[in-house]
Amino acid sequence: MKLDNLKNKIWLYFTFFSVFILAGLWLFQVIFFNAYYEYQKSLQLTRIANKIEASYNTNTFEATLDEVAFQNDVCIEVISGELVRYSSMSLSKGCLDNNTEAYTYKKTFIESGLARKKYTIVNSRFKNKTLIYAMHLEEDVYIFINASIEPLESTTKILASQLVYATIIVLLLSFFLAYFVSKKVSSPIVKLKDAALEMSKGNYQIDFTSDSDIKELDDLASTLNQAKEELSKTEQLRREFLANVSHDLKTPLTMIKAYAEMVRDLTYKDTEKRNANLNTIIDETERLNLLVGDLLELSKIQSDVDCLCLETFDLNTLILNILDKFKYLEETKGYQFLYESKENRIVLADSRKMEQVIYNLIGNAINYVGKDKTVLVSIIEIEDTYKVCITDHGKGIDEEELDRIWDKYYKVDKTHQRNTYGTGLGLSIVKNILVKHNYVYGVQSKKKEGSTFYFIVPKAK
Ligand code: ADP
Repeated sequence: MKLDNLKNKIWLYFTFFSVFILAGLWLFQVIFFNAYYEYQKSLQLTRIANKIEASYNTNTFEATLDEVAFQNDVCIEVISGELVRYSSMSLSKGCLDNNTEAYTYKKTFIESGLARKKYTIVNSRFKNKTLIYAMHLEEDVYIFINASIEPLESTTKILASQLVYATIIVLLLSFFLAYFVSKKVSSPIVKLKDAALEMSKGNYQIDFTSDSDIKELDDLASTLNQAKEELSKTEQLRREFLANVSHDLKTPLTMIKAYAEMVRDLTYKDTEKRNANLNTIIDETERLNLLVGDLLELSKIQSDVDCLCLETFDLNTLILNILDKFKYLEETKGYQFLYESKENRIVLADSRKMEQVIYNLIGNAINYVGKDKTVLVSIIEIEDTYKVCITDHGKGIDEEELDRIWDKYYKVDKTHQRNTYGTGLGLSIVKNILVKHNYVYGVQSKKKEGSTFYFIVPKAK
C-alpha cells in the first residue's frame, strides 16, 4: 500500500494517534497504576504533615488531627517523650499495631535526629505496605502519620480487562472514522487537482468546485477559479496580440514588396511615379520601424532587464521639451497646445521613461483630437504630489472600454483595421512604466466630449 497520498496519511496519523492514547491509558491505568497510587499517597502525607505542623500550638490542634485523620483515612500519633499524647486509632484504619516488628521505625527515627522522614514498611505476612511520615516537631514531641497502601492487584485486573474491550472498540472506531475523515478531506482535493491538471492542458472551460464544507478548500476552489479566469484572459490577449502583431507586420511588408516590384517592372522610368512609389515604401518602412521599436520597448519594460534609473529633474522643463517636438504641428496643421509653464516641478523618477509616457499621451491626444485641434497639458500641485493631465476634446472613450485600453493591442474599434496613427502599444507602454514607478494613473473620458489621461508623481524630497 502506498502511504504517500493524503488519504492514507490522514488515516495513518489518526490510527497512530489512537494507538498512542490507548498506550498512554494502559501505561497509567494498568502498568504504573500502583506506583502512581503510592506516589499520590506520599504526596498526601506530606500535605497532611504540613497542615498538622501549621496547627501545632493552637487551640484547634486536636480537632485538626481528628479531622485530618478521619477525612484522609490515615492514622496519626503524637508522642511526647514516653507518652502517647494523641492517637487517632479509633477514627481510622491503617494504624499500625504497636506490637508489630514494624514499630521499630519509631525508635530509628527518634534516634536519627532528623526533622522529617518517610518510611515504607511491608507487612511480612500479608505483604501489604504502609507509608509512614515521621516528623520531629519540638524537643521530645514527634508525630507519626501512617497510611496503609491498599493492594490494587484486583482493581488493576478489572481495569485491564475493561481496557481490552475499550482498546478494541476505540481502535475499530478510529479506524473507520479515520477512513471517512480522510476520504472527506482528500476527495475534494483530488477533484481540484484533476481540474488543475485539465487546466494545465489548456482547457479553461473547467470549473473548480470543492463540494466540501471545509472553508479552506472552498477558498482554494474560488482562488483557482480566479486564477483560471486570469489565465484564460491572458491566453486570449496573447492570441490577439500575436494575431495583431503578425497582421501589422505583414501589411507593410506586403506593401513594400508590391511597390518595390512596381518600381522594378513599371515605374522605374517615370520619375514622378517612381518617387511616389518609393515614398510609400519609405513610409511603410517607417511604420515597421515604429512597430518593432514599440515592441522592443514594451518587452524591455515588462522584463526586469530594464530597471528604473531614478534621478531628480524638473517635470516642467521635460514637458516644455516634449511640446517643442510637436511645435511643427502648430505651424503646419493648425494644432494648439495649451500649457502654462510652472517652474520647479522637481520629481524623482526615470526621466527618459517619463518622457516616453508624456510623449505617448500627447501623441494620442493629437491622434484623437477634437475639432478644436487643441491639446491641454497641465501640472496640478496636490499636497506632496504633482498631477500631470493631458486633455483633448475628441471622440472620447466608452465607459466599458476605459479599463481595457491599457492592454497591449487593445483597440476600441474591434475590427483590427490598419492603424493610421500609432502601433496599438502606446498606452500599454505608458501603463507598464507608471506601474514600475508605482504611480497612480487613469483616464476620465466622456463620449463626444473628450478624454483626460493623468498620472500622479510624488514630489522629490
Ligand atoms: P493606438 O496606437 O491605437 O493609439 P494606444 O495603446 O495608444 O494605441 O491606445 C489604445 C486605444 O485607446 C486606442 O486604439 C484608442 O481607441 C484609445 N485611445 C487612446 N487615447 C485616446 C484618446 N486620447 N481619445 C480617445 N481614445 C483614445
